Amino acid sequence: MHVVVLGAGIVGLACAWQLKRDGFDVSVIDRAAPGAGASGGNGAQLSYSYVQPLADPSIWKQLPKLLLSPTSPLKLRPQLDSLQWRWALQFLAACNGHRSRATTSELLALAARSRAGFEAMRADIAPDCDFSATGKLVLYASADGLAGAQRQLELQRGMGSQQRLVNADECIAIEPALASYRSQIAGAIHTPSECAADCLKVCVALEQALRARGVRFLLGTEINGFDRRDGRIAAVRTTAGAVEGDAFVMALGTASHRLGRELGAYLPVYPLKGYSITLEVDPAAGAAPTVNVTDSSRKVVFARIGSRLRVAGMAELVGHDASIPAGRIETLVAATRAVFPQAGRFESLQPWTGMRPATPTGVPIVGRLDGAPANMLFDTGHGALGFTLAFGSAQRVSQALGA
Ligand SMILES: Cc1cc2nc3c(=O)[nH]c(=O)nc-3n(C[C@H](O)[C@H](O)[C@H](O)COP(=O)(O)OP(=O)(O)OC[C@H]3O[C@@H](n4cnc5c(N)ncnc54)[C@H](O)[C@@H]3O)c2cc1C
Repeated sequence: MHVVVLGAGIVGLACAWQLKRDGFDVSVIDRAAPGAGASGGNGAQLSYSYVQPLADPSIWKQLPKLLLSPTSPLKLRPQLDSLQWRWALQFLAACNGHRSRATTSELLALAARSRAGFEAMRADIAPDCDFSATGKLVLYASADGLAGAQRQLELQRGMGSQQRLVNADECIAIEPALASYRSQIAGAIHTPSECAADCLKVCVALEQALRARGVRFLLGTEINGFDRRDGRIAAVRTTAGAVEGDAFVMALGTASHRLGRELGAYLPVYPLKGYSITLEVDPAAGAAPTVNVTDSSRKVVFARIGSRLRVAGMAELVGHDASIPAGRIETLVAATRAVFPQAGRFESLQPWTGMRPATPTGVPIVGRLDGAPANMLFDTGHGALGFTLAFGSAQRVSQALGA
């Protein structure tokens, strides 16, 4: 069976790897290079055991400050776009305890599967991707925040996550580079098993390995629509002509909504814009972190990838605007200087922006959808956890195709 994967972000490439491994004939189409969308400069965290959904009841208390503060990590610029409004209302409706617990459970199950898939991929192609398994600390600045975190910890522990609450001294013992930030730490959740890697390097390595195994790549090729025959998709229409296949997997990130609509499927996938900076670290012991750190009050994540530190954050509902305002980068630099003042060379950092393909609940859309032809499968809407979940959803897609 020939399966055509639409999109060469981490989700499409993980799918292509899994499908090839399971014996399918595979082609991949993308208008750009592998990892050029949301995957390339992401936060680099493989957060398999700590999946706190964005749609959580705690958002109600934080919302006024998040929407009104000029330095807020959340930004809403209303658009003349019904998807934005519908998405925002569905998101707010999902901010309740019941949905948040259900999402946590679904994401943890998918993440566990994804960890196994990522490990199988590493064993298979040995990508050079600055992989580390040094664990993660999620820092809280107040007793209130810590109490909320403890509830999430207990919920996740009941679902199999190995985590514990640690005090400020324990944080610094785990990650000495946090020493000068001690006064800002009320406590943290420590998850020793979490990992990190450079997602762009994973994408590039997957392309190389898959090409060597006979997977066809049509890069620089825009997908414009679909040709149907007898209620099925016969081909995708692209700038390189029609590409025929027996089955298709839509892994187009934030473009999935628009192209899904052409097929009669409603995909509530909206761009949640974020930013990152990457800097070369100071190699002196204790200068830059080696453990993944999330500062929950600043809503910024730090991950060590080889000789570099990746710092990522912000969530903006501003449509498909790919600009990088200097102020957003300054906020990330200020956060890094505050938490890890000795981290590295701030004068030579690389700014980046990307759009998380987010569903209102945070649960991705994986498999067939009502209204769409049966030979079109979807693998999209992984939001803030696409790197973490990609190999788990790839397995589900492959199984749905009969693997
Ligand atoms: C700031 C930030 C930090 C993040 N941090 C983390 C993290 O630490 N851990 C984690 O797990 N996740 C993280 N994420 C989320 C993760 O990066 C995304 O969920 C993931 O990259 C989504 O992958 P994707 O393949 O679905 O989308 P993309 O990587 O965007 O891939 C979609 C592909 O489709 C192609 N495409 C779109 N339209 C067309 C068309 N018409 N024709 C041809 N090709 C098309 C694009 O060129 C693109 O290559 C972060 C995201 C951001 C923005």
